[in-house]
Amino acid sequence: MEPDVRIFEVSLRDGLQNESVFVPTEDKLAHLHRLIDAGVKDIEVTSFVRASRIPALADAEDLVARLPRVDDVRFWALVPNPIGMDRALAAGITHVCTFLSASETHNLRNVNRTVRESLAGLRKVIGTAVDEGVRVRAYLSTVFGCPYEGDVPVARVVDVAKALMDLGADVLALGDTTGVGLPGQVEQVLEALDAAGIGPDRIALHAHDTRGTALVNVWAAYRAGVRRFDGSVAGIGGCPYAPGAAGNAATEDLVHLFEASGLRTGIDLDALGAAGREMESLLGRPLPGRMHQVMASACAADAGSNREGPGGSGTEGHNSTDRNGSDLQAHAAGASG
Ligand code: ZN
Repeated sequence: MEPDVRIFEVSLRDGLQNESVFVPTEDKLAHLHRLIDAGVKDIEVTSFVRASRIPALADAEDLVARLPRVDDVRFWALVPNPIGMDRALAAGITHVCTFLSASETHNLRNVNRTVRESLAGLRKVIGTAVDEGVRVRAYLSTVFGCPYEGDVPVARVVDVAKALMDLGADVLALGDTTGVGLPGQVEQVLEALDAAGIGPDRIALHAHDTRGTALVNVWAAYRAGVRRFDGSVAGIGGCPYAPGAAGNAATEDLVHLFEASGLRTGIDLDALGAAGREMESLLGRPLPGRMHQVMASACAADAGSNREGPGGSGTEGHNSTDRNGSDLQAHAAGASG
């Protein structure tokens, strides 16, 4: 049965790209298998950027070479430029994500190019993808506000989005990079895009929860007809200590929101919860997702009540040691928000 809403899982890429801990390839693959077992069908697995820029994703080729073959699951990789596209194709990737900022300054800071220069590179990337039969998802970052410029005019968003979609991208993912968007703004942007010929059926929402507005924005977009939403297990992503770069909408929270509202995601929340707890012990710090925390404490209580005799903490390997406390890492350059 077709789901009512499609979840696009980004924990392995957007989630891990700002982590100072390198998660070994084996552990990434184990996480990926948990996502597949939970019913996730679209998984962004890595990024073909220079390893020196994002060390957390330095194993892109190795990871892609070891992806399982699963008929109805699509593995996506982020490519920043034609060189990244060539690497992705050589590795056997058939679904790519590109990125561009709606605001000039963020684009310059992120990839050291103007929007116009980036579009020229993307023309090549997307052209190659179309020739090779590769699906393209185009992230448009800073749609609802820019950390350097502040407000981003809706007309500007529409212009850049149109230029991007005219190159041949299949899906436009609207990125609220620093989580400043509000529901009214989401409606306004979607309406303007629709009027410009980019309807909600070609749009995904990529929300970050910096100000606690990710889910309300998701719901506003759902009400406006959007059916694709990005999530990251347990809400990982960004840097917990850098204002303006908090994690993605948590995948567990999205699944709970939709399923509890009677909408099918095709994803098993309990199985997803297990993936979140594993990720927490891999990263060695408490993770922010709300449903993640609800399910983790229910598990801990269960484990506690199953123990014979007193004294069991029942935390099942939850390691709450905070290894990132002294390790502030700036938002990685060359990273899609
Ligand atoms: Zn993001």
